[in-house]
Amino acid sequence: MDTLLTRSGLETEAARVAVLLPLPLREAYDYRVPDGMALAPGDYVEVPLGPRRVIGVVWGPGAGVVDGGRLKPVVRRFDVPPMPDVQRRFIEWVAAYTMTPPGQVLRMAVSVPAALEPPRATLAYHASGAEPPPGFKTTDARRRVLALLADGGPPRSAADLAEEAGCGVTVVRGLVEAGLLVPQLLPPPRIAAPDATRAGPTLSPEQEAAAQDLRARVGAGTYATVLLDGVTGSGKTEVYYEAIAACLAAGRQALILLPEISLSAQGLERFARRFGARPAEWHSDLTGGQRRATWRAVADGSAKVVVGARSALFLPYADLGLIIVDEEHDQAYKQEDGSIYHARDMAVTRAHLGQIPVVLVSATPALETQVNADSGRYTRIHLPGRHGGAVLPGVTLIDLRRDRPPARHWLAPSLRDALTATLADGEQAMLFLNRRGYAPLTLCRACGHRLRCPNCTAWLVEHRLARKLQCHHCGLSQPVPEACPECGEAGSLAACGPGVERVAEEVAELFPDARSAIMASDTLTGPHAIQEMVRRIADHELDIIIGTQVMAKGHHFPMLTLVGVVDSDLGLAGGDLRAGERTFQLLHQVAGRAGRGDRPGTVFLQTYMPEHPVMQALKAHDRDGFYALEAEMRQDAAMPPFGRLAALIVSGEDEGLVDRVALALGRAAPRSETVAVLGPAPAPLSLLRGRHRRRLLMKAPRGVAVQPLIAQWLERVEVPAAVRVQVDVDPQSFL
Ligand code: ADP
Ligand code: ZN
Repeated sequence: MDTLLTRSGLETEAARVAVLLPLPLREAYDYRVPDGMALAPGDYVEVPLGPRRVIGVVWGPGAGVVDGGRLKPVVRRFDVPPMPDVQRRFIEWVAAYTMTPPGQVLRMAVSVPAALEPPRATLAYHASGAEPPPGFKTTDARRRVLALLADGGPPRSAADLAEEAGCGVTVVRGLVEAGLLVPQLLPPPRIAAPDATRAGPTLSPEQEAAAQDLRARVGAGTYATVLLDGVTGSGKTEVYYEAIAACLAAGRQALILLPEISLSAQGLERFARRFGARPAEWHSDLTGGQRRATWRAVADGSAKVVVGARSALFLPYADLGLIIVDEEHDQAYKQEDGSIYHARDMAVTRAHLGQIPVVLVSATPALETQVNADSGRYTRIHLPGRHGGAVLPGVTLIDLRRDRPPARHWLAPSLRDALTATLADGEQAMLFLNRRGYAPLTLCRACGHRLRCPNCTAWLVEHRLARKLQCHHCGLSQPVPEACPECGEAGSLAACGPGVERVAEEVAELFPDARSAIMASDTLTGPHAIQEMVRRIADHELDIIIGTQVMAKGHHFPMLTLVGVVDSDLGLAGGDLRAGERTFQLLHQVAGRAGRGDRPGTVFLQTYMPEHPVMQALKAHDRDGFYALEAEMRQDAAMPPFGRLAALIVSGEDEGLVDRVALALGRAAPRSETVAVLGPAPAPLSLLRGRHRRRLLMKAPRGVAVQPLIAQWLERVEVPAAVRVQVDVDPQSFL
């Protein structure tokens, strides 16, 4: 860049800047700085791009490739604090590591362009409560808008209402004209400040030692990755709250990453009780107004604590002083489309670039994290036992080969007896099955035909409550046919296997007087529904909850003493690299829901493989033994974290073309004594949303930088526009 600058002359150098645009572009573009405008790196600007005007960020001095006279000028500079240097370096680092164009990574940081404009009072609407005028038709869309504002729902702008209700703005206007909505001016929302001086609970000696360590690291302002490790209920959250208090006291911002923020309303309230104000939130369920206000407050430093999903990592923090990654082992931290990145790993990088501590929190850390802690790259802080001496639930394995459920039923006799006893004691039970809907497969009893999704390599799943067959991959939804679409036989379709709805049916049959409910992502739509369900369980308005992993997350239910896992083996099928580890983590987390109050809990795992190491480890509470075994197997196979993987996913609608590109990539693959490439092979999901998919997998020793190898590899093959090649460095999913 230096030589280019000299060649183009110093006069033009001062007058041009490189601007990175939030588009999938490899490089920043040069723009002319108009007279009288002063620009510095990090400034947010508006620039012309073809016929459009787009926002961008000044990335540095212009490169001087385009003749200065032909350069288009910057239109304007936004009056917001510039993107900090560390944030720009972070974007470049993520782009290079994940092999994504930097502009595409930048897009995650400027996801709310409207936030660059000064906040204004907005016109919002609330419900008038009036009766509809004569002749008024209550359409579904109108009802959805009114429902958003019913029961004290906060007033919102017409655009936000339309977006949330999934309708056009005209629907909102119609309601205003009918006098059912009333306009009002709302001041720009403000983010309340948490109070660092409020005292937390008195910590146990172990907690205090852990908190002391973290406070010191926050104060030192140097990089460190700390693994905070302890069973659910050991008080990890209370400990990291102390680190946050120290960060607030130092006047800096803190970020708490959660796998699925919308599922943790309880967590936000708990934070508010501890610090006197709710944290700023960042996730997909925010309104446009909340998004704008939060982005701005993060950028100007007034949002002190952000609780968010993985994308919160890319917000432009004015002065980030601490990152917490709660449930750091959770798969949801891996973003699988668009920019493919792992938020936990990127959080470690962000901490390193910013010279701040990052705390990884888990009862069942990822094997990667365990190995890094064992080798001393990360510091491990261990909290022994549950707070207040609550005991861990006893785990009983139910051998389904001996203790068999009746035909077309799914609960073993011993689990039924345990449920009866729990209900008799006035306690709560939870049945866990990580499968939405009624049955995972529907087949024709006459001809054996199985109902498949036409767009994906997947069965259609019956959702009996919704009376639909659905594809869980592409979202296809259709009515259940009366007759077999293959042979035409009427009434021949039969459900095979259980989903949560079917288990709920069995529960209703066994315990007609018990109050039961299903908790799954499709039966609970939106954070309010989840919050309400969590409240009903906590208030003991329900006796039996049948749920998917939605309910495995950090909820605290004191009366819940029995957890039954209907199919413990489910995650072990398929044999992916991390199947054992994931099953252990999930079942451990589910089991952790039992006995969180004064009453001891019991966990029943129904399995066909009671001798499997995962089941044995869960039964014996031998986490470390399980990890040691898992680590040994990975080491023998030179698999992560002892070796490296990178995947190429080739996809397109034209199967022949996809195959040709995949084969060409296979032929051009880098091969050496240490680097191997497997494939191409059809992906397990060889058809997804109408696109054919092939995979190639590169295996390399641990110390090898895979990105340059992949970059050279991709250069050797021409890829037509109709085919996409995605790079997944450190893949988590092999589907
Ligand atoms: P974890 O995050 O490890 O699951 P939590 O921090 O949520 O554990 O603690 C479990 C329960 O114990 C929570 O209800 C929490 O409020 C309570 N608790 C933890 N530490 C203390 C303490 N020092 N004093 C009082 N209550 C505590
Ligand atoms: Zn599908």
